[in-house]
Amino acid sequence: MEKKQFQAESKRLLEMMINSIYSQKEIFLRELISNASDAIDKIYYKALTDDQLVFNQEDYFIKIAADKDSRTLTITDTGIGMTKEDLENNLGVIAKSGSLAFKKENEAKDGHNIIGQFGVGFYSAFMVADVVTVISKALGSGEAFKWESEGADGYTIVPCDKETVGTEIILKIKENTEDEQYDEYLDEYRLKAIIKKYSDFIRYPIKMDITGR
Ligand code: ADP
Ligand code: MG
Repeated sequence: MEKKQFQAESKRLLEMMINSIYSQKEIFLRELISNASDAIDKIYYKALTDDQLVFNQEDYFIKIAADKDSRTLTITDTGIGMTKEDLENNLGVIAKSGSLAFKKENEAKDGHNIIGQFGVGFYSAFMVADVVTVISKALGSGEAFKWESEGADGYTIVPCDKETVGTEIILKIKENTEDEQYDEYLDEYRLKAIIKKYSDFIRYPIKMDITGR
């Protein structure tokens, strides 16, 4: 299986994330929930102008599932999904490199951690996970694809099975180390607190499902 390389700038951001230069690791969840919400918004707005598409409020939600036994945290959405090309273009590169440059510049200037205010995006998942798997099926597409990466050495994309339109992001949560605690990202109350802190305004239901140990 061919392993594709990230673009140079993406790779730099990725390395920063892997080395966890930000103390606020918990913000990864805010980023993934905001992407899930954006993806549902895209279906919502499409339905406004597309007679073939009906937006039934109850069909659209975000689910956070933790499995302590497999150490996985899965963020599922029923949003617009991604085609193979989308996976390639959106997750292999930085969507807004301009805003990243802005962030870095300003952070350097006033020494403040402004990362908490601006989105750092999808790659923040690598602060807490050593493998990130994205399974997605795009609206109007018959096929689903799996994007997977262990970080800086690239990513793979292969066809896979997925019944429904939307995206599933599976994080293999890092093992605890002497200096860093990661178990908390599999804990129901901790996850609920993070969601309350950063994602309280999200207009789609956020369901939770915790299993294992
Ligand atoms: P941003 O949200 O600022 O564009 P991100 O790094 O968070 O940057 O995400 C990059 C892109 O990947 C998004 O713009 C979107 O196109 C795509 N993406 C990420 N997560 C999802 C998702 N759950 N569903 C559909 N597309 C997604
Ligand atoms: Mg985002």
